[in-house]
Amino acid sequence: MTRCYYGTPRLPTERVKEIEERGQKAVGYYYFATSNAGRDDWQEKEGAQSRGGVVPIANYEQLYSRGELKARAEKARAMLEECTVCPRRCAVNRLAGESGKCHVTQQIIVSSYEPHFGEEPPLVGRRGSGTIFFTYCNLRCVFCQNYTISQLGEGSPVTRNELAQMMLSLQAKGCHNINLVSPTHVVPYILEALELAVSKGLCVPLVYNSGGYDSVETLELLDGIVDIYMPDMKYSDEKIAEQLSGIKDYPSVNRAAVKEMHRQVGDLQIDEQGVAYRGLLVRHLVLPNRLAGTQEVIRFLAREVSTNTYLNIMAQYHPCHRAFDMPQLARPVSRQEFSKAIDLAHQQGLHRLDKEHFPLPLRFVLR
Ligand code: SF4
Repeated sequence: MTRCYYGTPRLPTERVKEIEERGQKAVGYYYFATSNAGRDDWQEKEGAQSRGGVVPIANYEQLYSRGELKARAEKARAMLEECTVCPRRCAVNRLAGESGKCHVTQQIIVSSYEPHFGEEPPLVGRRGSGTIFFTYCNLRCVFCQNYTISQLGEGSPVTRNELAQMMLSLQAKGCHNINLVSPTHVVPYILEALELAVSKGLCVPLVYNSGGYDSVETLELLDGIVDIYMPDMKYSDEKIAEQLSGIKDYPSVNRAAVKEMHRQVGDLQIDEQGVAYRGLLVRHLVLPNRLAGTQEVIRFLAREVSTNTYLNIMAQYHPCHRAFDMPQLARPVSRQEFSKAIDLAHQQGLHRLDKEHFPLPLRFVLR
């Protein structure tokens, strides 16, 4: 089976043959084509040619054709009987309608799906990142900007088939990837829907966009399926993690998860058009008064993951939800706090930063 690029159809058989006659492999690879290439009108890009015309990626299609995707979905589903899908390990039987900390039983609830242009540039490219926002979350962040979705349950139940159709429709719109937002608590259902979607031609990279509280056991089931991991690294201090997200062991669990993600996909790889197709992208939201433990997060990434880690140090924190009740959280991040975080990253040798400058206030942007 052959992978495609930009949501274009699979490579025609004769093109696969041609590639293979050149002694190259077409199986399990993205093929570079111009964005307006039609079904029968493939045009190789120069850069692709110089690299042999193919770029290796993780390949859920291969797992699908071997029946491994189905086996992984079944393993993940079995975890729901005494739920250990995430490190909360609630041990409730979700298949029997019981719910744990994430509130989700056997239903998938989606709040929205759309091509999104507000994500990091390597995900957005020119045609957007195909985001699917799952309702509820396994975290309880007091400052969550999406708390109506993550904590109050805004969204509608969808079937596996409908979720698969969402993936396919985002691909058909030309999105560069399927960006699963808050996927941790619904991994088994995503795998079931993915199997249906792959059988109908899904072939763009999958992005796992999580709060970073993921278990290594569940991540192992995603090995070779997820192409791009995009976890948060929210805190370095257990007490703060407990106070602000209700989870004491966040720092240690998060670090183990990030290491596992990096083991699977490595550093972020970006093609000649500036679009990411594989790897790790870490997000770190700077909080006021050093609550996010930025220095320790940066040091961990530099020393225990890779100095080539693509890191988005985010400055957009503003108090919302219950943050106003906490004096330390009740103000935005200052320019100095953000600049300090950038300096720390440079000092530790992290050189792939998503942005280096404090964002202009909205009033300037709108003028
Ligand atoms: S996925 Fe939900 S029910 Fe399962 S362990 Fe996590 S919070 Fe608990």
